[in-house]
Order: sequence, then C-alpha cells, then structure tokens
Amino acid sequence: SAKPDPILVVDGVRRSFGGLTAVDVEHLEVQRGTITALIGPNGAGKSTLFNLLTGFDRADRGRWSFDGRQIGGRSGHQVARAGMVRTFQLTKALTRMSVLDNMLLGAQGQLGERLAGAFLRPMWKSQEKENTARALELLERFKLIDKRDEIAGALSGGQRKLLEMARALMTDPSTIMLDEPMAGVNPALVQSLLGHITSLRDEGKTVLFVEHDMDVIMGISDWIVVLAQGQVIAEGRPSDIRSNQQVIDAYLGA
Ligand code: ADP
Ligand code: MG
Repeated sequence: SAKPDPILVVDGVRRSFGGLTAVDVEHLEVQRGTITALIGPNGAGKSTLFNLLTGFDRADRGRWSFDGRQIGGRSGHQVARAGMVRTFQLTKALTRMSVLDNMLLGAQGQLGERLAGAFLRPMWKSQEKENTARALELLERFKLIDKRDEIAGALSGGQRKLLEMARALMTDPSTIMLDEPMAGVNPALVQSLLGHITSLRDEGKTVLFVEHDMDVIMGISDWIVVLAQGQVIAEGRPSDIRSNQQVIDAYLGA
C-alpha cells in the first residue's frame, strides 16, 4: 500500500459547550489525495470538528497542521487561503443572490460566509474577469451554467448541493470538506454528486466528507473515521469498518 502522506494532522483537539464535550479528538490524520469519510451518530461532533478545523469555531485546546503548516487558531479566511475549505449551506441571504454572484462570493475565500453574503466586496477589474471566467468554468462542470442568472433560491435541493460544492472550489482548494453533501438530494443527482467527489479525488484533491448512507460511504471512501461522543472510536478501510462490532454498536445505539 502507499506510503502515508498526511495533509491534515490533528492532535488533542477539544471543544465543549457548557458541560458537554462535543469534540475530543486525540489524534487524527487525513491522507493526501484520498476520500475520507467521517461517520458517526447524530450529535457525535462531526460538524463541530469541521468548524474547528476550518476556522469557523474555536477549539478549547489542541493543535492541527495542514500541508505542513500549523493552522490551529487561524480564521476561516486564512484556512481557505492555505488551501482547505468546507462547504456551507446556502444562507437566506445567499438564496436571494444569483447563482453567478454566489460563485463570485465564493472567490473571496470564505470571507463572505461570515457576512452572510450581504454584499460583494469590490474587486479589481482584472481579478473580476478572472473570477468570472473560473465561475463559468465551474458552473459548466457542475451543469449549472444555464442557471447562472437565476437566484440561488430557485434551485432544486440537489442543484443547491452542486452549487455549494462549486462555490467552495472557487479558491482552488487542495482539500475540501463536505458536510452531508447528499442530504435531501434525489437519487439521480446523488450519482452525479458522487461522480464529482471521485473526480476531485482523481485530480489529486483531498476530500473529507460526512455522510449517513452506508452504501455511499462504502462505495467511494478510501478510508473511514468513526466518531462517537466526540472521539475517534475506529478507523480503517471500508471492509474493516463494515465488520467492526464497535461501529455497529455505535450506529445501532446499543
Ligand atoms: P454531528 O454533526 O455529528 O451531528 P454536532 O457537531 O452538530 O454533531 O454536535 C455535537 C454536539 O455538540 C451535539 O450535542 C450538539 O448539540 C452540540 N453543539 C453543537 N454546536 C453547538 C453550539 N453552538 N452550542 C451548543 N451546543 C452545540
Ligand atoms: Mg452535523
């Protein structure tokens, strides 16, 4: 098997809300160029971990490095500039903007996510041209080009998921985190989303995703990490995880 080449290394990361420890990860590595699934029951801390790692929430303690650089404590914007992004559900403000403007906001490296997409920051003309060209290319790739001038709120559930993925790619990240990319998507579009995820990996990008559908997880993951009550309770290849009693127990709530 290939030599380990972690792009993300996490050590001793903890986040509590009041008396509840939502995330308490001792050690976690994500290998470069893989599709890694993060699975676990509801409330296991998956979304909180994504928020911490991408700078959208603050850890109580811990350190993590991305591509050899310590990025713990950096803002979402800084983490995006380092090359790691997460997708965001379209906020209400974003649904009132056109599909193309959503993409251009994505080019601002997740700075706009916090501002709820209320406005586009002024761009230099040359930069705007470049960003628009990239946006159109991605919209073409995600089969949303015909929707470029429609408001994002008019898209179907599945098309929104495609837009979330496309806009996260505006900064050309090397690593993308997808939080339940298939939720509420009809079966036809699930296949298309899966195709996009494997293409990203095949182009050398690293994908970390949260998903519940076991067939989806087993079908496309190179590695699976199981989180329960904030802790990594198991990890391995799909074939190992499928037969892991601890995992079965955590999922069945035994
Ligand atoms: P998952 O994504 O695995 O379903 P979350 O990361 O959303 O789990 O949540 C983990 C735990 O932390 C849950 O018990 C949740 O209620 C709690 N939690 C998450 N965010 C907050 C918050 N902002 N304030 C208080 N509790 C939170
Ligand atoms: Mg979640």
